[in-house]
Amino acid sequence: MVAGHDDKGTVLNNRIFQVISKVAAEENRKAYVIGGFVRDTLLGKKCKDIDVVVLGNGPDFARRVAAELKIKKGITVYENFGTAMIRWRNYEIEFVGARKESYQPHSRKPLVEEGSLKDDQLRRDFTINAMAFSLNPEDFGLLIDPFNGIQDLHDRIIRTPTNPDITFSDDPLRMMRAIRFATQLNFDIHPDTLAGIKKNCQRIEIVSMERVTDELNKIIAANTPSIGFYLLSETGLLSIIFPELEALKGVENIEGHSHKDNFRHTLEVLDNVARRSDNIWLRWSALLHDIAKPITKRYTPQTGWTFHGHEFVGQKMVPSIFKRFRLPLHDKMRYVQKLVGLHLRPIVLAKEEVTDSAVRRLLFDAGNDIEDLMLLCEADITSKNQKLREIYLENFKLVRQKLKEIEEKDRIRNFQPPIDGNEIVRIFNIPPSKLVGILKNAIKDAILDGIIPNEYDAAYEFLIRKAEEMGLKPTVRT
Ligand code: ATP
Ligand code: MG
Repeated sequence: MVAGHDDKGTVLNNRIFQVISKVAAEENRKAYVIGGFVRDTLLGKKCKDIDVVVLGNGPDFARRVAAELKIKKGITVYENFGTAMIRWRNYEIEFVGARKESYQPHSRKPLVEEGSLKDDQLRRDFTINAMAFSLNPEDFGLLIDPFNGIQDLHDRIIRTPTNPDITFSDDPLRMMRAIRFATQLNFDIHPDTLAGIKKNCQRIEIVSMERVTDELNKIIAANTPSIGFYLLSETGLLSIIFPELEALKGVENIEGHSHKDNFRHTLEVLDNVARRSDNIWLRWSALLHDIAKPITKRYTPQTGWTFHGHEFVGQKMVPSIFKRFRLPLHDKMRYVQKLVGLHLRPIVLAKEEVTDSAVRRLLFDAGNDIEDLMLLCEADITSKNQKLREIYLENFKLVRQKLKEIEEKDRIRNFQPPIDGNEIVRIFNIPPSKLVGILKNAIKDAILDGIIPNEYDAAYEFLIRKAEEMGLKPTVRT
């Protein structure tokens, strides 16, 4: 909904706008709030980032405003860019001198010269992002909207203010932004604008990966991320920036047998996860959980379609994807790898009898991420067969209950076997070797299989027995 004028009035009562207005009058300069803040205010949303455009020099104006607010440390000036940022209360206020931009084919960095407010609005990406409120005393609060962005806001449309072909060719990042805004706001992209993206999709290659990833992450963080991925695919951008995901698309049919469309399925899982968790890395896990299906796909008349080992192959594909998108390569990547690698385990459990030892092993392998894994697996149930879905979900309840019981009893989640390798070395006075590893693993397996309890004495006895079978005797009792 587009908010009424009262909301705008209240928002513009903020002291910051009164101060900017006063400075504008005293300096005989013009100032406007523009872009995201105006859009969000008209949508009735709160916004802490305020972009202010002034005629003439931006940093000089910002310094006057900072002085008026008695701000000393909270101002950062980027002299080269002609911008300045003030932090005040929870707000970040960015000042920029109105400018006119012109582009050259090889770069998305424009040549800049001083311009009018209209020039500045013309360089904005979308009609809904080009609206401004006057902060000048003579018409304070007046909406200046040369491209009828307010109508597009009503109609829920993303549209470029000028020729989309030129807009996207000039700065191809705007293609990602269009799709990101369509996803965040649940707006449609105007057909001409969409055609402009399709035509220029190849130009995305001149944009740095970091910027692409920023937008991709905003799509993934939205309420319904699938909107963005369908658009990325439709426009041709996905096959350039994320070919592995594009490859999930399609249904193959042999002898009347077809498999499901793994692209649709993946996006359904992603939306399911997004409904229940804001964790961006859990969302990435959903996006990548079946990523290896295309390369592990086989058909035989006996078994039909199979994707054997896709979870392990998928796990191995994660690092190259993370590297390409410049995503964090340590904890976050390992977490995503782990969830991709384990994503079938609870389903197997839910399909078969839930034995204590299988539950212990799952707890051991998933550790503290068990809750996230269960959420991913529940989200993975996208069968259109209601009966089947109910059965699976019912079984998952059982798995969850078992997980709880066994964790309470055996404390497997952060399990460290009660006897470690160093101790085995000491007990038998042997050098660190493969044998130590074998004995250590035997203890771990015995505990996970429920042969012995997770306690020191039981583990010690078990170790001595096991070692004896291998011809080893303890030299010390620790
Ligand atoms: P949000 O902050 O929620 O992502 P926003 O609209 O404030 O949304 P910013 O990236 O903060 O987006 O940019 C502020 C304003 O600057 C935009 O509203 C738009 O007018 C303009 N803008 C930003 N990036 C571009 C671009 N690549 N091309 C043209 N205009 C842009
Ligand atoms: Mg912003």
